[in-house]
Amino acid sequence: MPPFEFATAGRIVFGAGTFAQLDSIASQFGSKPFLVTGKRGSGFHVTHEPTIDLIREGVEAFRDGGCDMVIAIGGGSAIDAGKAIAAAAANPGDLLEYLEVIGKGRPLDAVPYPFIAVPTTAGTGSEVTRNSVIGSPEHGVKVSLRSPLMLARVAIIDPDLTRSLPPAVTASTGLDALTQVIEPYVCSRANPMTDNFCLDGIRHAAANLPRAYCNGDDGDARNGMCWASLLGGLALANAGLGVVHGFAAPIGGKFDAPHGAICAALLPAGMRANIRALRERDPESPALDRYRAIARILTGDQNAIPEDGAQWVEGLTRQLAILPLRAYGICNRDLPELAEKAARASSMKANPVALTPAEMTAVVESSL
Ligand SMILES: [Zn+2]
Repeated sequence: MPPFEFATAGRIVFGAGTFAQLDSIASQFGSKPFLVTGKRGSGFHVTHEPTIDLIREGVEAFRDGGCDMVIAIGGGSAIDAGKAIAAAAANPGDLLEYLEVIGKGRPLDAVPYPFIAVPTTAGTGSEVTRNSVIGSPEHGVKVSLRSPLMLARVAIIDPDLTRSLPPAVTASTGLDALTQVIEPYVCSRANPMTDNFCLDGIRHAAANLPRAYCNGDDGDARNGMCWASLLGGLALANAGLGVVHGFAAPIGGKFDAPHGAICAALLPAGMRANIRALRERDPESPALDRYRAIARILTGDQNAIPEDGAQWVEGLTRQLAILPLRAYGICNRDLPELAEKAARASSMKANPVALTPAEMTAVVESSL
């Protein structure tokens, strides 16, 4: 077994009805929580994927309110925003200094304020990851604020909170969850712990996503999807991702499309591109065996070949009415720029095979 390291939230509280424990858990960390929420609920509202300006605004409100901890209740946007506010409020200087790619990428000096994450979607797994994805409209990219210190003190995952999600959100966030158990499993930084999480996550996402989409009130299906999403967060934070998330950063930075919807549209083509490149240039790669294992789980067929997995996922995206990328205004002339930016994205570093510029371009082209 190769040596590895694994880090996650200080505590994970999982299960239907666990949301009721929030107040008593929060009181262990502070007396003046700064509440970050999505479109609904009271608190600091995060209605879009966070930007640098939104985080600066949140830090100011946190300091003005004399707060001593952050609680984020919402989808990945609210959780990423809350996580970044807790970190930025505790550290001097401007946020840009600490950002990757467009900033100085300076490590955090001070330990962030205590942060509690309560997801209301089943997709990003952000409740257990150590980074916040933040958009810079000025630079036209999304980058990460990243530090092991940013892990939530507590993640409270109550599947009942996801019951009211509309089918389209269930579909796109659920396919993000599926992507986040597939990419870390085949990536070059996989470890024995993340492998187990990914295999169980793929099983649960495949079995429960169609059910949760058809009947939002199916408690078992919601439970299964929250579980898959949590496993994806654990896996991606401790292994890596790949080409689908490599493209999600520049596409999300330039176009007004939700992260889950982008990953959902790209996943079949991303899998196909990797499988084809591996067959052509690295046919002995263990990643091909891993794609075969994924195909067997997804299709339930022990004789499935790697390509069958991609085909199954494509069928699922059709069943779940996932929109192609052109629905968000992406067209052919954007391809070279997106491919070039994706090649430099941090997620690309763990892709199981190096893709040529032509192969990269084809991934988006066939997802249009
Ligand atoms: Zn994702």
